[in-house]
Amino acid sequence: MTVHFWGVRGSIPTPASPSRIKSKISSIIEQITPEDLESAESRERFLAGLPPWLFGTVGGNSPCISVTFNDSKLADECLIFDCGSGIRELGNAKAGDRKKISHYHIFLSHFHWDHIQGLPFFAPGYNPKVKIDFYSPVADLERILSDQMINPYFPVQISALGSRKVFNYIENNVNIHDRVISMKKMNHPGGSYAYCVNENGKRFIYATDTELISGDFTKNDENTAFFKDADLIVIDSQYTLGEAIDKYNWGHSAFSLAVDFAANWDIKHMVMFHHDPAYDDHKLYGILQSAKWYLERMNIKGIDLTLACEGLEITI
Ligand SMILES: [Zn+2]
Ligand SMILES: [Zn+2]
Repeated sequence: MTVHFWGVRGSIPTPASPSRIKSKISSIIEQITPEDLESAESRERFLAGLPPWLFGTVGGNSPCISVTFNDSKLADECLIFDCGSGIRELGNAKAGDRKKISHYHIFLSHFHWDHIQGLPFFAPGYNPKVKIDFYSPVADLERILSDQMINPYFPVQISALGSRKVFNYIENNVNIHDRVISMKKMNHPGGSYAYCVNENGKRFIYATDTELISGDFTKNDENTAFFKDADLIVIDSQYTLGEAIDKYNWGHSAFSLAVDFAANWDIKHMVMFHHDPAYDDHKLYGILQSAKWYLERMNIKGIDLTLACEGLEITI
């Protein structure tokens, strides 16, 4: 399966401000030498040598991730986790693809704004040839999704989304062409659900908006079945440890606790996700460095660490 990141910011979309863009450009100009400008190759080499926080950005959209499968039976289907503002980009990108998606399966972790606000801007939602299955363990998901589009909050109501919509209240695993999607309730104000996609022994976990607690580390049957030996986890790593202490009970985790969690469950690849709106690219890549330092310092082996950014794609 291939996991694609369309929105990675938590709490609210966070576009780069004009002053941050100007300061990136001026820092790049300060570093450039006449030799770097000599040829197309030297210019490419110079740009490739810049740090990712300077020549690039993690992006500003709120959470949205897609999962697609390398299987001809599923070529026109797509799984989506959360409808943050990143889903707008996803919808536009899929519209431009030669191979059209006709069936979306949208799983909702919970209904805080940053996870649903992109739905009214999801172009395939207005296409009557498209089917959308929504899934949530919350019984009245149709009403909740509809309410964000009622007058005066949005110019058209959810009925204007002309796609064939099915709202699935789920209590157990979901089976999509033999891919099993399981779920688990996590610690977050109002509750949040993590999902695990199982395909031919490969397991991808989406676990955003969670303030990890001791029970998440307990090696009981339920936790073991869900977390142990996962190939890839996208996990809430919103805070530094100091901030997590200040913001106790706000529902998000310190990155170091997320690393401990991945180590506890022998997870092979951890992606730090739900970036704080107050952190700029420089700070976020600094946090990634700190997380790598922590792995080394604690002698934790066997975990790949990645910072979520828009456009990132990981195949497992
Ligand atoms: Zn959130
Ligand atoms: Zn939330």
